[in-house]
Parts: sequence; structure tokens; C-alpha cells
Amino acid sequence: MTLLTFRFAPSPNGELHLGHAYSALLNQEMAARAGGRLLLRIEDIDIARCTPEFEAGIFRDLKWLGLGWEEPVRRQSEHFSEYRAMLDRLIAEELVYPAFMSRGEIRAFIAETGKRGRDWPLDPDGVPLYPPLDRALPMKERKWRIAEGRPFAWRLDVDAAMARAPSGLSWVEFTDETMAATRTVEARPQAWGDVIVARRDIPTSYHLAVVVDDALQGVSHVVRGQDLYSATGVQRLLQDLLGLSPPRYFHHRLIPGPDGRKLSKSLRDTGLAALRQAGMSPQEVRQLIGL
Ligand code: GLU
Repeated sequence: MTLLTFRFAPSPNGELHLGHAYSALLNQEMAARAGGRLLLRIEDIDIARCTPEFEAGIFRDLKWLGLGWEEPVRRQSEHFSEYRAMLDRLIAEELVYPAFMSRGEIRAFIAETGKRGRDWPLDPDGVPLYPPLDRALPMKERKWRIAEGRPFAWRLDVDAAMARAPSGLSWVEFTDETMAATRTVEARPQAWGDVIVARRDIPTSYHLAVVVDDALQGVSHVVRGQDLYSATGVQRLLQDLLGLSPPRYFHHRLIPGPDGRKLSKSLRDTGLAALRQAGMSPQEVRQLIGL
């Protein structure tokens, strides 16, 4: 029997807070209960915002919490060629297209549509969907713009991609952390429109890197925050297009901040390093987050 494999996958673009502590410790607990493995993955594709100092902080905070993980730790910035290879497959199959519009151009385009763009569809995060202009560009025009050196990102043609996917594309979600029961969730990647698969400066995006790594690392159970629940639909579609076998998912509750709102990396008072310096013990952190 193969061991169940869990992972905690933080991004070193800020300090870890109580929400990360909950996610990391829950992964550890679930892996231990299942007699499985726990991996740590550093998601640092955003080379402009991720720093070695934040990464060192992640290791320090997790060790302090008592988390143990398998070595070596996978660092995404060291694997761009693997993501590139997957991207090339999507390019060859014409499932992605070069998207040239800047944020300003997107805003201007949407504002010019009826009612100053008030009816323009938004993704689950409230961001306007990408306009359909670039998807419709003739191949000659695309090639000409690329040759000219115009910056572009690769975006998924979600309608073309869904046409390839089996009807009723879905994922398996655990109903709670005991993993006693599951339910099937319908993947609705269209809600995100034509998502970015590779950014302007790097040959991947969060979604592409995460599905490639989960598959390469043999992750069987993805345990992460509720905030990524609807992103799972996009990831499920990418897995299908790339022939990667999907893990099972559990999206856990989020730890609210002192004001009842979602924790962010800028909320210094709930940062693990700050709590440690204020004299809090790992045991008290567990109590605070209800573990
Ligand atoms: N790196 C992501 C984050 O820091 C988590 C990705 C995931 O768990 O799928 O929010």
C-alpha cells in the first residue's frame, strides 16, 4: 500500500501568521493519523516578492511550532524548466494563447462597454474576467506581436479546455478533517475566465506550478484553506488537460484576525515571529487556533 502524502506549501513573500500555523499543524496531524508523509514545499515563483529572509523565517517558525517534514524541501523557483515543459504541451495543443493587455488596457476596455462596465463578469475573487480580444487574434497577428517584443502572459482558453474535459469534471472533497466521508464537487473553472497559466516574466503561474508539483511529489491529500476552494476547479481542469492524477482535497476553516476579518501577511500582531517574541509558547498557539 502506498503511503498517503500531505504537504504544506507556503510562499515566502511575508511572515507566517496564525492561519499558516493552523494549516501546517492540521496537515501534520492528519498525516500522523493516517501514518502518512508530510512534505514542505516553498512556493517562490514570484521572484520579485519572495526573499531568502522570509524563507528562513518559515523554517524558523515551523521548527518552533514542532513541525517535521521530509527533506529535501522542494523550492519551486528551482524547477522552472519542468513547468515550461508542461506549458509547452498546452501551447502545442492550442489550449493557451498569448495575452497582451496590460491592467490599464483591461480596465479601459471594460469601462468602455455598456454601463461603464458595471455588468462585466467578475471572478470569485472579484476581479474582472479577461476580455475576449486576444483569444480572437489571428495567429499571424500573435506571431507579429511576439516578434515585436510585446510583453505577454499565457492564458488558458477555458472554453476550449472545457470542451476537451469530460462532462461533469469534479474533485473529491473530504467533508471534515477526520477524512471519514467525502463528497464530489463539480469543478467550475469557467468562473475564473481565461486564467493566467504563465506570467509575463516566468514560465508558470501559481495554478500550473501547484498541479505539476502535487503530481510530481505524489501528493495524495491536499489540505489547505477555504480561500482556495474555488481555485480547485481551475487546478482540476489543468490536471485533466495534462493527464495528472488528482489528489483528494480538504479545505479547512480560516482563522479570523482580531477584527474578525481574514488574516493577511501584513497583520503583524498575528505573525508567529511576533507572538514568539512576545513570549507565547507553541502550546498556546495551538490553543489559540483551536487545535
Ligand atoms: N502557496 C499558497 C499560499 O501560500 C498555497 C498553495 C496551496 O496550498 O495550494 O497560499
